[in-house]
Amino acid sequence: MKKKNKQKKVNQYGKCPQCGESWEGDIFDYMRDNKHFNHLSDFELYELMKKSYEAPYKWSRLINIEYKDKYDGIWEYQCPDCKATFPSDNQIRLTS
Ligand SMILES: [Zn+2]
Repeated sequence: MKKKNKQKKVNQYGKCPQCGESWEGDIFDYMRDNKHFNHLSDFELYELMKKSYEAPYKWSRLINIEYKDKYDGIWEYQCPDCKATFPSDNQIRLTS
């Protein structure tokens, strides 16, 4: 059997090893960009965010990719900037 390289766990809030862009996103910016919240002031939006999410109000910009026929759940992540893909924790668990 071929020996596999040990796969590194992806830090979803870290930097992309391919292009160096940070995957850490700000939930406030994300909500502010959503026209659904246009009627809210920054203050109201901040209050809503505090109610809806937990500190430090960060989210990962990584795109979750699922292959329904392969695995029920997130199979790999894709960098939104350079489109490189990285195995998810689920994949690492199954293949190692
Ligand atoms: Zn990238």
